[in-house]
Amino acid sequence: MTDSAQPFADVADDARVSETPLVDKGFASVRKIGNGLYATISDLSKGNTTVCNGGFLVGWDAALLVEGFATPAGASFQMDALRMVSQAPVKGALNTHHHLDHSIGNAFHGTRGIEVWAHPAVARRIVDSYTPLQGADRAAALGPFEKRMKDAKSEVERAHAQSDLNAFTTVFELAKASVLTVPNRPLDSSELPKKVELGGLTAMIESYPGHSGTDMVVCVPEQNVVYTGDLLVNGWYPACLDEKTTVSGWRATLKTFASWDKDTLFVPGHGQLCGQHGIAAVREVFDDIAEQAGKMFKAGVPAEEAQHRYVVPKKFKNFFVFSWGFTIGPAITQLYAEWREKKLE
Ligand SMILES: [Zn+2]
Repeated sequence: MTDSAQPFADVADDARVSETPLVDKGFASVRKIGNGLYATISDLSKGNTTVCNGGFLVGWDAALLVEGFATPAGASFQMDALRMVSQAPVKGALNTHHHLDHSIGNAFHGTRGIEVWAHPAVARRIVDSYTPLQGADRAAALGPFEKRMKDAKSEVERAHAQSDLNAFTTVFELAKASVLTVPNRPLDSSELPKKVELGGLTAMIESYPGHSGTDMVVCVPEQNVVYTGDLLVNGWYPACLDEKTTVSGWRATLKTFASWDKDTLFVPGHGQLCGQHGIAAVREVFDDIAEQAGKMFKAGVPAEEAQHRYVVPKKFKNFFVFSWGFTIGPAITQLYAEWREKKLE
């Protein structure tokens, strides 16, 4: 939605957000967003070192890192930024969920003896999702996506298949390039919300449904700052491809975020820093997908066809679609499944 060179443009009048970054390497920049709070914002156009956003929280006694990023070099970059402002010992590095762009750089934390924190299902889901890719032959892994392009029945379907091939190629290459390191500190639901005392700075780690079945957020209630992971991707169509994505759960989570303080500053999993309008916009996107899909559902359009028929409205034309099959396609398939279930009740 905004110039990717200005990660703070949406919140330029927010006094908490520093205009000058602490460090900017192109692929990501780090800037101060509160007392002891920093955000790492990635710019995909300049490389895949970090890919996702993250950040760190620094108190008098300790620090907490957010995310493992897409490569160990990405995690190392963020650690270097932390060391520019503090020598405090690191309590842990939280993976907000298991997706590889947030977790595959964990190997860096492993080599430094930094505990990796996450939802209890993250370790298993990293292994199940990415070990098969590590051993896979490129042609065999990408073949089904190439076949879909050949078999496409229309230009629209072909374009969607091409976007999926591009996205999956990135995932495949990232998975191949790094040693998998799984979290060694599962945060059991009985521990949540987990209070993290860093010395003059208190963070709360909470779990919400929606994007991946393993989603955690870091809240700093005293400063109204929230690190959301992919439960918020600002200016992007939401990624609904995970087998544990729940569209209804996600919409409920966004409704909860919308009920928080009007001055809440969000560090999204991807996209630029934003306030409540970022939440409102993605809620509108979900409403629009549901509205278009609902009409097709009522008209008896099959799900396989409906997922290609959705049209991005003008007002969301600047929203980034990472790939059709990672975002809009599965959102529609999911909604269809939820509506079918309702009908059967
Ligand atoms: Zn994700």
